[in-house]
Amino acid sequence: MNGTVALVTGGSRGIGAATAVRLAREGADVAFTYVRDKEAADDVAGRIRALGRRALALRADSADPEEAAAAVDRAAEGLGGHGGRSGLDVLVNNAGVGLLGPLDSLTLADIDRVLAVNVRGVFLASQAAAARMGRGGRIITIGTCMTQRVPGPGGTLYATGKSALIGLTKALARELGERGITANIVHPGPIDTDMNPADGPYAAGQAAMTAVGRFGEAAEVASMVAYLAGAEAAYITGAEFSVDGGHAA
Ligand code: NDP
Repeated sequence: MNGTVALVTGGSRGIGAATAVRLAREGADVAFTYVRDKEAADDVAGRIRALGRRALALRADSADPEEAAAAVDRAAEGLGGHGGRSGLDVLVNNAGVGLLGPLDSLTLADIDRVLAVNVRGVFLASQAAAARMGRGGRIITIGTCMTQRVPGPGGTLYATGKSALIGLTKALARELGERGITANIVHPGPIDTDMNPADGPYAAGQAAMTAVGRFGEAAEVASMVAYLAGAEAAYITGAEFSVDGGHAA
C-alpha cells in the first residue's frame, strides 16, 4: 500500500486504532478521526509516524453530518495530492456507538444518536470518499456479528443500524464497481476493546457464543481490513466477512 492514503473513522482506540496502525505498517499514510480522547489519538499518530508514515489525527464527530463528510476532505487534502485527483484511496468506516438495551428503554434520542453515527455518518463519509477516489479505491465498513446472529435480547437498535450497512455496502459495490472501487463489510465478533472489554460483566457469555471460546483482538479484525484494502482484493466487492471466532457458525 506504499503511497496510498487511508482514512479510518474512530481511530484513536480499539479496532480503529489497530486498523490505522496496521494500514501504516502496510505502507499507507493514515488519517483518522476521534472525538474525546486526544491523548489516545496523539499516541496512535505517534505509532504511525514511528513506522515512517504520515499521520493526521482529526477531531470529527461522525454524529455531525458536516463533520462526517468534511473529515474525508480534510484527510484527502492533508495527506493526498498524489495519484491524480483522488487524494483518498481507502476509507474504513469504523466509528460506531455500541448502545444496547431493552426495547422499551430506548428513547428517541438513543435512536437518533445510534442511526446518526452508525448509519448516516457512514453514508456521508462513503459518499464524500467516493467523490475523491480513483481506480483501486476501497471502502471498508465495520459491521457486527449481530447482523448475522442476534444472540439474545437488547440488540434491537444496534442490529437495526448495523444491518443497514450491509445494504449500503452492496449498493456501493454496484454503484462504484465500474470505477474500480470496491466496498466490503467486516463483521467482528466480541473484540476486546474499551467498548466491549474481555473482562466486562457480559464477557463470559459472549465468549461462550463463539466457536473458539474467546474474545478476539482488535489486530485480528485489522488484518482482514488490511487484506481488503490491498491490491490483491481488487476482485472482492459487495461482500461480508465475519471475523467472529465462529459466532455465526
Ligand atoms: P471503542 O469504543 O473501543 O473505540 C471507538 C473509537 O471510535 C474511538 O477511537 C472513539 O474515539 C471513536 N468514536 C466514537 N464515537 C465517535 C464518533 N461519534 N465520531 C468519531 N469517532 C468516534 O470501539 P471498538 O473499537 O470496540 O468498536 C469499533 C467498531 O467496531 C464500532 O463500529 C463497533 O460497533 C464495532 N464492533 C465492535 C465490537 C466489539 O466487540 N468491540 C463487535 C462488533 C462490532 P474517542 O477516543 O475520541 O472516543
